Amino acid sequence: MLTLDEVCLDYGAFRALDRLSLAAAEGALVVLLGANGAGKSSIFRAVSGLHRLAAGRISLGGRDLAGVSPAGVVRAGLVHCPEGRMLFPAMTVEKNVRLGAYVHRRDRAGVKRGLDEVMAMFPVLAEKRHQPAGSLSGGQQQMVALGRALMGRPKVLLLDEPSLGLAPLVVRQMFDAVAAVNRRGTTVLLAEQNAHAALGIASHAYVVEGGRIVLDGPPDALRNDDRVRRAYLGG
Ligand code: ATP
Repeated sequence: MLTLDEVCLDYGAFRALDRLSLAAAEGALVVLLGANGAGKSSIFRAVSGLHRLAAGRISLGGRDLAGVSPAGVVRAGLVHCPEGRMLFPAMTVEKNVRLGAYVHRRDRAGVKRGLDEVMAMFPVLAEKRHQPAGSLSGGQQQMVALGRALMGRPKVLLLDEPSLGLAPLVVRQMFDAVAAVNRRGTTVLLAEQNAHAALGIASHAYVVEGGRIVLDGPPDALRNDDRVRRAYLGG
């Protein structure tokens, strides 16, 4: 349902994405593996309309996203949960989560229902809902960011490195939550450097290097690929 076709993206004279094509079928959990600077975040910026394409096409459910504003992309069902969480640390947990409903959900009952779902999914956030988001642990803040993204009722969720800087146990919880969101029917595109954990929940994976896709396949095939083992799975 989400397809990138020969996408090029430039930062000035630097070509960060070079004729990159990929697809995420409806209900899939697609992982993008790649080192720092490979182009994963640029893929997300391209998809969410934050950066204009130099060439190529991106479509969602058959609709071309060219020229659609970032808010229009959200309304079309695509929500981006950026790397580094981007919370408002002085605002409460609940207010941060509610912000995710801002672009296209104004009905009070719907927002309340969405909020209840997020709090049920992450009980620790329900306990801390009136505390400033900045007072939470890194993993809990990542849950706030994920909850905020879910408030936009995404058909497709773009998750940029949700495990960054988290302790292994918390990484596990985070990935369990992402898998649960996917099982409920949300298509997920997940950029990760933690290849072990990401391949554990993926239905399909792409390897990004130098702004191109160099390899893709089902998780088992990638786990058994020598290049992937050397570069991303520690031998
Ligand atoms: P990371 O995990 O570090 O975010 P990434 O795979 O997401 O890595 P991108 O952030 O997409 O990589 O960056 C791809 C390339 O584009 C890198 O070489 C980066 O230095 C460059 N780049 C990213 N943003 C800009 C920018 N605003 N101006 C110039 N170059 C940029």
